[in-house]
This record gives sequence, C-alpha cells and structure tokens, in this order.
Amino acid sequence: MSQTAQPEIVVQGIAASQGIAYGQVFLYVQKDLDLPQYQIEPSRRVDEIARFERALVDTRKEIGRVKAEVAKNLGEDEARIFDAHQLVLEDQALIGETIREMENTGLNIEACFHRVSQRYVQAFEAIPDEYLRERVADIRDVAKRVLHSLMGQVATNLGSVLKNRIVVANDISPSDAASIDRSNVLGVVTEGGSRTSHAVIVARSLKVPAVVGARGVIDQAQDGAWAILDGYDGYIILNPTEQTLFRYGKLQEKRRTVETRIMAVNRLPAETLDGVRVTLLANIEKADEVELVRSYNADGVGLFRSEYLFLNSGQIPDEEQQYAAYSAVAQGLAPLPVIIRTLDIGGDKGSAGGVSLIEPEANPFLGFRAIRFCLENPLLFKNQLRAILRASAAGNVQIMYPMISGVGEVVRANVLLEEAKQELRERGQPFDPELKIGSMIEIPSAAATVDLLADECDFFSVGTNDLIQYVLAIDRVNVRIAHLYEPTHPAVLRTLRGVFTEAAKRKLPTGVCGEMAGDPVYAPLLLGLGATSLSLTPPLIPSVKYLLRNMKMADARKLAREVLELRDPAEIQARCEEFYAERTKDLALG
Ligand code: PEP
Ligand code: MG
Repeated sequence: MSQTAQPEIVVQGIAASQGIAYGQVFLYVQKDLDLPQYQIEPSRRVDEIARFERALVDTRKEIGRVKAEVAKNLGEDEARIFDAHQLVLEDQALIGETIREMENTGLNIEACFHRVSQRYVQAFEAIPDEYLRERVADIRDVAKRVLHSLMGQVATNLGSVLKNRIVVANDISPSDAASIDRSNVLGVVTEGGSRTSHAVIVARSLKVPAVVGARGVIDQAQDGAWAILDGYDGYIILNPTEQTLFRYGKLQEKRRTVETRIMAVNRLPAETLDGVRVTLLANIEKADEVELVRSYNADGVGLFRSEYLFLNSGQIPDEEQQYAAYSAVAQGLAPLPVIIRTLDIGGDKGSAGGVSLIEPEANPFLGFRAIRFCLENPLLFKNQLRAILRASAAGNVQIMYPMISGVGEVVRANVLLEEAKQELRERGQPFDPELKIGSMIEIPSAAATVDLLADECDFFSVGTNDLIQYVLAIDRVNVRIAHLYEPTHPAVLRTLRGVFTEAAKRKLPTGVCGEMAGDPVYAPLLLGLGATSLSLTPPLIPSVKYLLRNMKMADARKLAREVLELRDPAEIQARCEEFYAERTKDLALG
C-alpha cells in the first residue's frame, strides 16, 4: 500500500457491478495513436536509430514479462502466443526496412516504423494461407507496443493484466470482458458503456466490481496509480488520501456484514411471506458456470447466452464443440431446466471466432443481429440447432430464439428446427422429442404480437435490456444518453403488463431475463406485473431472494397496480426503492 504525493481525484460514473476494489490502475489504452511525423536532420539519424533499438529492447522485455505472467496464471500454452510476438520483434527485414525508410524519407522513426509495419500487415493480409494471415494480428499487436514505447506510452491488452489491478479503459468489448482473469482483475472502470452493455453483464457475473461512464478517467489516471473503485455508488477515487482509505475501510466492514446477512438465505427457498414460491433461474455465458449455478441454488438456467462460445473460442465452434458445451451444462444441472438461447451475434457483439461475422453497421442494434443473422445463415444455424437438440437427450433442455420481431421469424426458425430434427433421426442420434421452444420478447413488435407468437411457442422470456432500449429508442451502450434509459418509464411498464397479460391468457409461462430481474428494487414490480420467473446472474440471486422472503406477493401486485397509475419515471423509481427499503431495513448501511 502506498500513499502518493498526487492529489486525490474523484471521478463519478455509473455503478454497474457491485463491490469495492482497492489497487493499482492498469491503463487499457485503445485510443488511436496520435502519430507524430517530422523531418530528422541527417546528423540526428544515428540517435533516431538508437531510440528505435531501445524501444525494441524495452518491448522485448515487456513481452517477456507479460509472457511469464500469463504462463504463471493461465499456463504455458496460453503464453506461447508471445513467442510469435518476440519473433516479429526479431525480424531483421522489418528492422532493416524501417531504417531504410528513414534514410529515404528523412522522417522520424515512429512514422517510418508505422509505414513499414502497415506494409507488412497489408502484405500478410493478401496471403491465401490462413496461418500466415493470422500473423497479421501479431504484427499489429507488436507494432502497437513498439510505437507506444517510442512515444513513451503504455500499450496494453486485457490478457496481460498484471496481478491485482483495476482496469481503466475507454471501453471493453464483451470478449475482452469474458477473457478477464478474476484473479488478476480487481475491478473495471470504463469511460463508455452502460449498465446493460454486454461487457458489464459479464463483469457482474464474474463478481468484478465495475463503474461505467466515468468520463475523463483516462486522462486523469496514471498507469500504476493507486485507486479505490466503488461499484456501489459509481466512483473511482484516484490517489486516495489516508482519510478516504479509512472511510472506505469502515464502509467495507459494514458491507461485509450486510453481505453475510444476504448470503444467509442462500440455501433457503425463494418464498414470499404469503407463501408464493418464486422460480429464480440463472443467466450464464459459459459452460463452466454449472458449479456457480449450483452454488447459488438456482432453479435452473433461464438464459444461456450461447454467443460467448463463438466469441471466445478463436474460431466458429462446430456442432461437436457446441454439443460438448451444451450437454455439459444440461447433464451437470439435470433435471433442472436449461434454456439455451440461439446465437445472438451483432449489436455490441459483432465478431465471432476472432473474425468479424457481421460487417460494421451504422446502427448495429437495429441491424443484422441474432435471429436475422441465423435465418440468413441456415447451415451455421442448423449446426447449432442440432447441437442443442442432441444435448436435450442429456438433460432438461429448452431452446429460445433471440430478437424475434414477428411470428414469421419463429415459423422460419421452427422449420429449420424440424429439418435439424430430421437430420438427427437419419443419423440415429437421440434428442428430446418434447423439447420446448420459446421466444425472447425484447422488440416492441414482438411485445405487441404475443398472442400470435403464442401459437408457435411454449414459453416466453422478456429481455428487458433490449426491450427498454427499443421502446425508448435509447442505445443501451451510449453513455451520453444513459440517464434516459429508464426501466420505470410508463411505456416500459405498460408494455410489460401487456406481454404478461396476453401470455397468461394463453397459459404460456413468461419470465424476465434482462438485468431488471437481478435488481431487487425492480424484482417485486416485475412479479407484480405478472412475470412467472426471474432469470439473473447467479451472484445476484441471494439479494433478490432476501427481498422475496421479506415481502408479500400481494404487496408486489399492489405496487404494480399503483405505479401503473403514475406518469413520472422518477416517481415510479422512488416507489420501487421505497418498497425495497421498507422491507430490508436490516440491510441499510446506516
Ligand atoms: C435482454 O435483452 O434483456 C437480454 C437478456 O439479452 P441480451 O442482454 O443478451 O441482449
Ligand atoms: Mg437481448
């Protein structure tokens, strides 16, 4: 622990994942380099070459250090990628060409190295050999490190986070987040993002404290500076004083007491005071989360975001690889239900297998995403459908389609599902013939046609993250309008009430799997409006359960009726918070 002479700086953001972290900053700089370009006097060229050589040596050392760290934490295999990086650094042709470029143009070494490495990248990209093409990423990565070193800046990637660091970034991608090593990363702070951006959802499921929308933090934070991250109230405090550390220490103690109280209900049923047993399911992103689901005593998996398999595998997983993942979860949790959502690529999850499956679009959340992509790629989609069907023989699997906007899409998806079943019959491979199918309700047009969708589905699950963004026209990852993303907007509540009412008329179970379901302030409202289950990230289950065990379902229904009469989102929000606070007085920090 160190006390620096730097002044304390408090940066306010949005609390995105609960928890407090204290540690050193790891600056994850992704901004485009502002590359200097100027003429060098012929007499100064020797100095320029010496500067270049120093940068190469420093970068080599840095890569060696990162490699050792990765080998220790993740294993030798994962660390091997850095051997390829070292080879790029030792490439005499690259070095020689950079020096020649300087002699020919008279430009500074950064500009010359950048030009030459760009030429390498272009040349490698044009090579038909896939292995060689993949080296482009290595060259880019190393070139970035060398340029940062020449310019006296820190170059980073999330795989190389040093131990016990708070990652401070402009933004992180969902696959970046999924590659976070919990034992290295104490917390995450981003300038962009929002509570429902996918990277944050992953952070929450990993129990990594996070603050998003912390504007200006990159310019103010120095790599290695000490900081407190407050994921409850949405602050990052750079260079905290002794007094601040003391205050946070006290607060931490109180929070631990509260945490212990909440965790005391972990093994108890999710039952309200008036005897209603509520189904609490888990949202998961990876097959290895079975133990996590079990440890929080979830009633099953309400949302398996299958796209993470695609985002993290370094390739598009084939049927066998997908089958292995889905059946591991189905078998590991049988007889509990496991709802596997088909590929929801697009939006803020634009690439899969390290390659971009979807061309960059002006409005990715309104674009070629999820079921729209799958219906146009039937071979890829059927691979997934067969893998899910086969896993259904190993447990209680259900299938769910994301981003449904109308009944036609469900009909088309079901035709492909029938084809996939027929293909398995021909292969003699078993599957559950009674497998239930469901649609996510996350687009207003789906919400308005629940009665029609009901003819094609066995259940629904409301994705409030997207539903809110589409009902209110608020991009869920745009930090500038994050304050307008209001779960308690009357339009959202009326839409939800319509969905639950129409689905209930047709006796279709309808849960909620968006982030609202994991917030104990909103859970009673959702249940009061008619949700039949809640699906949430496992570490949040105890706090929702704690509230359920201290409330009456009849009161939740009353709350829903009351707030449906109100017009102001802030007033509705306040009513929900009051409902929560009145029933959880013993959790107040005082
Ligand atoms: C949702 O939209 O609420 C949802 C659960 O899906 P995702 O967050 O993966 O888009
Ligand atoms: Mg969604």
